Amino acid sequence: MKVTIYGSGYVGLVTGACLAQVGNDVLCVDVDERKINMLLNGEIPIHEPGLDKMVQANITAGRLKFTLSAAEGVAHGLFQFIAVGTPPDEDGSADLRYVLTVARSIAQHMDSYRIVVDKSTVPVGTADRVRAAMQEVLEQRAFNAEFDVVSNPEFLKEGAALDDFMKPDRIVIGTDNPRTTELMRELYAPFNRSHDRLVEMDIRSAELTKYAANAMLATKISFMNELANMAELLGADIEKVRIGIGSDPRIGYHFIYPGCGYGGSCFPKDVQALERTAREIGYHAELLSAVESVNYRQKDKPFEKLQKHYGANLEGKTVALWGLAFKPNTDDMREASSRNLMEALWQQGVKVQAFDPVAMEECTRIYGQRDDLTLCNTAEDALQGADCLVIVTEWQQFRSPDFEAIKSKLKDPVIVDGRNLYSPEQMAKKGIIYYAIGRGC
Ligand code: NAD
Repeated sequence: MKVTIYGSGYVGLVTGACLAQVGNDVLCVDVDERKINMLLNGEIPIHEPGLDKMVQANITAGRLKFTLSAAEGVAHGLFQFIAVGTPPDEDGSADLRYVLTVARSIAQHMDSYRIVVDKSTVPVGTADRVRAAMQEVLEQRAFNAEFDVVSNPEFLKEGAALDDFMKPDRIVIGTDNPRTTELMRELYAPFNRSHDRLVEMDIRSAELTKYAANAMLATKISFMNELANMAELLGADIEKVRIGIGSDPRIGYHFIYPGCGYGGSCFPKDVQALERTAREIGYHAELLSAVESVNYRQKDKPFEKLQKHYGANLEGKTVALWGLAFKPNTDDMREASSRNLMEALWQQGVKVQAFDPVAMEECTRIYGQRDDLTLCNTAEDALQGADCLVIVTEWQQFRSPDFEAIKSKLKDPVIVDGRNLYSPEQMAKKGIIYYAIGRGC
């Protein structure tokens, strides 16, 4: 089948590669010239495990192509997937500028029936706005072409995106037309073989499903962080509490890890956007505000722990930082806890020596060259001459480090662990002063 995808970011590129992998003829459109040039040269602009090989194989097979031209994109696919960004606007609502630009350009160039599939995370009612924007352009063109709008929210996780797309837990299709449901079913059939995972619903419910999923996951994290902060004051160990509650199948072990807050391009903006939607309909979503404010506060924990150890004034210190990405297996630093920490440290005149297995280029892109930031080649290099170590991303390679090397390279044997990777007892035995989240230290 012929598919066009607007937006070659984490969602668009993965969607394009996976749809091409199963035999479709896919054209990816982006407005970012740098990205498209990289992709045309077989280079991948983001880090996502396995994506480079899949993209290259499908380029070679002639099933995956890239262009800057929206007109070519519209001419190509029966399916027109919108996978552009929906960043937060100043008031927290989702900025639909990019989604509506794509919708208008589809209407501008289309000459026959198209299915417009919204894969970006968008507020309830966006499909109506997409339809209206397209209708307006078609009227200006005095051209009467048929089209349908479908909501098909994406649930992939960065770092495991290919697996999530190829073997999804569910495929949500929101339509108001049985004809499009059947065509969407056909497109997704290769990913829907073991049992039927395709969930059909009306468009508004599909749009809300995506926000509901992310808000639920963010709530689990903030709930655990709230409890972690209480455990710390009560002399309890949140890690033991976590295991104690996770064994209840109604609660489960997933997503109840305490830490220094969630980040990324989705949870923070989606919780905010949902809260904003609530406000627009005159509903005060108390729980959502609390989820957000708990997370906001939690990102300061590593900095507070440093102040607890060294006193309020940290000027002149050097901090070794392990982890820049908002979570392991991605180079994405959007809303990452590392950024809150580094920015707070820099404000106090503290130098940072950081290491991340894949996010260092992204860090340079965001912050440029600075005297108070050194990006090191290895985790051990980051320790050399630093006063202490702070960990904010739970990369596997940080789980069992050489603690003797850590002690010998740091000026003080101090670890602030924002992801609870080690046990306080083990650290005490090794002579390391250890600060974790919700563990009484
Ligand atoms: P991204 O920022 O990585 O990529 C968006 C891309 O869209 C960029 O390359 C940008 O240049 C391009 N773009 C902007 N305007 C365009 C236009 N007019 N035509 C063509 N391309 C255009 O974003 P992302 O992380 O892939 O997220 C995309 C959407 O999917 C968002 O709504 C997001 O909330 C949602 N989502 C993201 C994830 C995730 O893990 N990143 C998961 C599920 C859903």
